[in-house]
Amino acid sequence: MPEVELHAWVAWGVIALAVPTVVALLFIRAPYGRHSKPGWGPTLPARWAWMYMETPPVVLWLAVFVLGANAGAAVPLVLAAMWQIHYIHRAYIFPFRMSADNKRMPLSVASMGFGFNCVNAYVNARQVSELGSYPVAWLGSWQFLLGAALFAIGLAINLHADTVLLRLRAQGGGYKIPHGGLYERISCPNYFGESLEWLGWAIATWSLAGWSFFIFTAANLWPRALANHRWYIEKFPDYPKQRRALLPWLL
Ligand code: NDP
Repeated sequence: MPEVELHAWVAWGVIALAVPTVVALLFIRAPYGRHSKPGWGPTLPARWAWMYMETPPVVLWLAVFVLGANAGAAVPLVLAAMWQIHYIHRAYIFPFRMSADNKRMPLSVASMGFGFNCVNAYVNARQVSELGSYPVAWLGSWQFLLGAALFAIGLAINLHADTVLLRLRAQGGGYKIPHGGLYERISCPNYFGESLEWLGWAIATWSLAGWSFFIFTAANLWPRALANHRWYIEKFPDYPKQRRALLPWLL
């Protein structure tokens, strides 16, 4: 089978996997963070779990990227910079911004993240430096301009939202109601920002690879946003009534 066909099959496989994922996550809360519970096998410190599962999108992604015929071209390099800015932060900076408390994550959950990230790294890196066509003129296309703008806005929202939570966590004293920015409208601006980033990526790369990642991100994060929102309402009787879970005024 030619690689272009194999690559498309893998991307469609990711989209297919999103269906059981969203159904399962509407009923089962992934057991880490506020939804932690015993019975999911051995655990490891949350900080190391994040580094473990988020390393493939940095290292494997770069290895696949440099093997591509267009790895030295301008647009693939810009797209690589966008991807790596997000993932270098997520794999090697975010874990060290977390409080060094004794939070743990099941190895099974981290390994599922690791496995998905390996497949996703291949699909997206191969798209950008080998299988996609991104001449310099792509930088002026509406897809790139709109996608890059959404990606940048999503990244800023995600970083701000994570920072608010990490500051609350660093204060100690358990979970608190977050305030500021989009927290006045939704419970999970970190997931909203992350979703916007990968929607931007899908548009900027205008590819099945990019859309498959956005669809899977939504399948993974949107049910958790609903679960987190319900959790806040149950835990805090004075939780602000106007807040939605993920989309201001809507959801
Ligand atoms: P959470 O919001 O569950 O937690 C982030 C950090 O903030 C944790 O240290 C958590 O502590 C702390 N925290 C959360 N809420 C509060 C609160 N109300 N008061 C005090 N501390 C709080 O986010 P996730 O761990 O699920 O995700 C982290 C990042 O990773 C996000 O930016 C998310 O978008 C991204 N991500 C992306 C995925 C994807 O599919 N692309 C998948 C999963 C995450 P504690 O650990 O004690 O709960």
